[in-house]
Amino acid sequence: MKIIRTKQALKDAIRRLRAEGKTIGLVPTMGALHDGHISLTGVARQHVTAIVTSIFVNPTQFGPQEDFSRYPRTENQDIDMLEKTGVDIAYLPSAEEMYPAGCVTQIHAGSISEALCGAFRPGHFNGVATVVAKFLLQAQPDIAVFGEKDYQQLHIIRQMVADLDIPAQIIGAPIMREEDGLAMSSRNRYLSISERKIAALLYRVLQETANTLRAGQKKQGEILELAKRQLLQSGFSKVDYMELRNAETLRPTEHAIPPVRLLAAAYLGITRLIDNIPITI
Ligand code: AMP
Repeated sequence: MKIIRTKQALKDAIRRLRAEGKTIGLVPTMGALHDGHISLTGVARQHVTAIVTSIFVNPTQFGPQEDFSRYPRTENQDIDMLEKTGVDIAYLPSAEEMYPAGCVTQIHAGSISEALCGAFRPGHFNGVATVVAKFLLQAQPDIAVFGEKDYQQLHIIRQMVADLDIPAQIIGAPIMREEDGLAMSSRNRYLSISERKIAALLYRVLQETANTLRAGQKKQGEILELAKRQLLQSGFSKVDYMELRNAETLRPTEHAIPPVRLLAAAYLGITRLIDNIPITI
């Protein structure tokens, strides 16, 4: 596995892989890798013959009060994991390499980026869209894989790639969970032992709420309010949202008829967790 830290070296390495007839898949991450990230490389493998995994904690997608400075950084372990996984290139650019002095242009990700997580993290998805566009332009992959764990992010990136005619296919990958159902996340490391026990309730409440919505016997608003109350009573400190959305447009929907997705974000102490599930028939 090659470890690459500059755009120029990435470009050269990609050119060599292309000359060998390889097809390229990109898996962007912020590191502190876990099995959820690794599953994305497995999905990429089904489509391409060479994989680039980027690790970059992108400063422009964090708000001023958010966890950028304390976000877990475990570079050596991450490199070991990628090496064992059989990734071809680990791309770890510095902030200066990604955003040289004088760099000012940002992508505006549109109205869906202001809903759900975007309503609580203003500007977050503009930062995400911009850094992902840069990675797609730097690596010029055939495909790029993103997790459904960040369902809104996946939607926004698909839209951006279509709108900007970026010639990469975007592939969504299923959410990997711990045994008790908690969606794997780099931020789970922040949880204390007692918070970790409560954390799995987010998935359980999503499942119960999906069942109640599917049954269709109570008003959607009441069901969602009850779900939020349940989280708060179980020890979550704040619920940013629990919402039912059309799974394809991410617009609000009155009816729990597929394709729909139930999405939530809630805090345990100062740790913000997100999760989502589809509602099936
Ligand atoms: P992050 O490092 O958190 O920015 O995530 C990098 C990529 O991994 C994103 O496409 C995420 O959606 C994806 N990802 C994170 N956690 C999971 C998970 N538990 N299952 C599947 N994909 C995930």
